[in-house]
Amino acid sequence: MDVVSSFAENLSRLENRIATACRRAGRSRSQVRLMAVTKTHPTEVIAEAAAAGITLFGENRVQEFEAKVPRLRSLIPSPAEIHLIGHLQSNKSARAAELFDAIDTVDSLRLAERLHEAAARLDKTLPILLEIKLSPESTKSGLAPDSAELLALLERLPDLKHLSVRGLMTIAPLDENPRTARTCFRQLRQLRDRLVVANPLLDFSQLSMGMSGDFEIGIEEGSTIIRIGTALFGDRPRAR
Ligand SMILES: *Cc1c(COP(=O)(O)O)cnc(C)c1O
Repeated sequence: MDVVSSFAENLSRLENRIATACRRAGRSRSQVRLMAVTKTHPTEVIAEAAAAGITLFGENRVQEFEAKVPRLRSLIPSPAEIHLIGHLQSNKSARAAELFDAIDTVDSLRLAERLHEAAARLDKTLPILLEIKLSPESTKSGLAPDSAELLALLERLPDLKHLSVRGLMTIAPLDENPRTARTCFRQLRQLRDRLVVANPLLDFSQLSMGMSGDFEIGIEEGSTIIRIGTALFGDRPRAR
């Protein structure tokens, strides 16, 4: 199979679907960022996507990405923006703060404080998203919308000067019924609207919601970042 042309075809098909969803929602294409999710794919896949104009990438494991970094630097001339989108354990926060341009899965006060310390040592400001759990699936991580943990984190964030909160992220439950994803994404947007009012010092402009199976619903519900793996790169090489 010609990998290059199949990627180009996937991208063009995806862009058509994104444009259609944006039109349907009365939104401009420029309001939705496309994040290419490259977990489990080799570095060459990232380089190829970057060559095709993709500027935002998501990886879900610190160690996996760390292994890709040396080759990546030689393959990609202009710096791409690479976010961590998988669960982060506190003990890997220092490495993550160093490797990634942003952490989109902050799900506890403890993790935020560890990332803040690491970012301070690196003398950088790390953009973050708060991961919100709106699904009853026990395997999903994230902050519950009405939890004391989320409240405590929101209270603390204005003092964590080396973290810059940009918004919220969620993963919809696996469900064939599109209403499930819609309900989840709508709840995230409504939570965001409440947080904006209650936390005037913080920025919640970004909503990372929507993957290959549900990004159109995400766009209709106000997503600003869609995270796409399978629809761009095909099935992942090994099971996650
Ligand atoms: C793997 C992954 C994606 C991409 O999933 P696809 O269904 O392949 O598009 C998006 N977001 C997160 C957090 C992921 O782990």
